[in-house]
Amino acid sequence: ARQAALASWTGPGATADGHPVPLLANVGGPAELDAAVAAGAEGIGLYRTEFLFLDRPEPPSAEEQERAYRAALEAFPGGKVVVRTLDGGADKPLAFLPSAAEPNPALGERGLRRFARFPEVMDVQLRAVAAAGGAAVMAPMVATAEEAAWFARECHDKGLDEVGVMIEIPSAALRAGNLLTMVDFVSIGTNDLSQYTFAADRQLGAVSAMHDPWQPALLDLVAITAGAAARAGKPCGICGEAAADPALACVLAGLGVSSLSMAPSALAAVRAGLAAHTMEQCLAAAEAARTGSSAADAKAAARAQLPGLD
Ligand code: PEP
Ligand code: MG
Repeated sequence: ARQAALASWTGPGATADGHPVPLLANVGGPAELDAAVAAGAEGIGLYRTEFLFLDRPEPPSAEEQERAYRAALEAFPGGKVVVRTLDGGADKPLAFLPSAAEPNPALGERGLRRFARFPEVMDVQLRAVAAAGGAAVMAPMVATAEEAAWFARECHDKGLDEVGVMIEIPSAALRAGNLLTMVDFVSIGTNDLSQYTFAADRQLGAVSAMHDPWQPALLDLVAITAGAAARAGKPCGICGEAAADPALACVLAGLGVSSLSMAPSALAAVRAGLAAHTMEQCLAAAEAARTGSSAADAKAAARAQLPGLD
């Protein structure tokens, strides 16, 4: 009965002993806002803005973008909304951002890198986020502290005062402390972090077995990033698919991650999993997982510390 009650509860995320772990939604456009609200998300941890830019000859105007960002803020009054700047590359061609053919688009001019050559597209987007008022903004595909500093300067110039970067490249995780001197928060994108850590294309079925979010190397990079954020006194969220697994969500909380963002459909199970375990159990599960030498070991060791999760 307790499990059933937990599964239908939509309150804020917290462990059984009351440590808050805000549970946010990943959304990819206005059509997904209702689902996020209905699932009890406390805000939006990742607003993928690609939907505004794809399949059109010109970029969306500042006004059109502002309307979209404002709708997200209105769906979560008082809640957090993190808008991610356009994350495009040679694999997602945009008519107004010509890109040369690249042999390895995942390693090419994508994410924030792209805006070094097309600064006006980022300018308009940042101005639109600022005009919508109240959202945080973050950049994808940041590899170095210099890139984080450049992005933060561009944001501050437009009056944005809550600025973060995604940690989805191993260099950024290893040096998260340096990046955090430039920005207010970081958010770990485990999908790309896994791709770049294991040198395994996330779109290629033949190497998909590498993309197990329980991989100890991935957990190590999360731990390094969360540790740097704790030392900096700044938040470290997770917005990759790893956050959607209830047992792994407990491990991530135990590794020191301060919020979890996921597809709305995953929120109920993660909320129930956290609510059924104490922070002490999450810490023990995190420690146990990192003793594993394979993803399967890590998962088994963590689950032994998290009764009731399978
Ligand atoms: C990620 O890489 O984990 C992420 C959240 O961003 P996307 O899936 O949009 O690349
Ligand atoms: Mg990514």
